[in-house]
Amino acid sequence: MTDSENPTIPERFERVRAAIAEACGAAGRSPDSVALVAVSKTQPASAIREALLAGQRLFGENRVQEASEKWPALRDEFPDIRLHLIGHLQTNKAEDAVALFDLIETVDRPKLARALARAMAKLERVLPCYVQVNVGREPQKGGVDPDDAARFVAECREQHGLDIRGLMCIPPVDEDPAPYFRWLAETARSLGLPDVSMGMSADFPEAVAAGATLVRVGTALFGPRQAA
Ligand SMILES: *Cc1c(COP(=O)(O)O)cnc(C)c1O
Repeated sequence: MTDSENPTIPERFERVRAAIAEACGAAGRSPDSVALVAVSKTQPASAIREALLAGQRLFGENRVQEASEKWPALRDEFPDIRLHLIGHLQTNKAEDAVALFDLIETVDRPKLARALARAMAKLERVLPCYVQVNVGREPQKGGVDPDDAARFVAECREQHGLDIRGLMCIPPVDEDPAPYFRWLAETARSLGLPDVSMGMSADFPEAVAAGATLVRVGTALFGPRQAA
């Protein structure tokens, strides 16, 4: 029996995929113009395995240490997994991150851009990256200032040789995210960046409406997180 108040992980994936398709339909977008990043931070390997068996291959983790404990074994089993780093990255973990992840979504300062460029050269492994923008200018959040985004993208490319493919943001929790989402999509477009990573469990349909090409969803797919 299916309990609609306590859905299984495959049921949750079905619902979120349907909601993305519906938001795409309403916005006149093709459903495959939006990638679902399943945010598996704090989730045990058993939950991730259920997601993998439900067909999910794209995942996001916010900590290098935690990801390095969970993912190598899962990758052996599912070689087509793609893993995005979506959390703050310390420069001294840049090499571990480059070795483990397929894309870094949180490039947000010159020192980190330089550390990533060095790590990629050393490991001979080139990862696409996104620049994180602190759209609400919140002191506790990572990301470049919105006014500095264009300049920083150029710096990452020209001085550090990074392959910047998109922008990422986490809007303030207590405000309407739609204006922030529209700003990020418009800024990415104006910079010629194809990828726009925005929208979480609470607001991914709004993000799709505003032009997200990736949504990062955790709770709606896996249920509540255990404390980290
Ligand atoms: C945890 C997290 C998410 C997912 O949040 P939910 O509300 O659980 O969907 C998305 N993006 C980032 C950067 C996160 O840290």
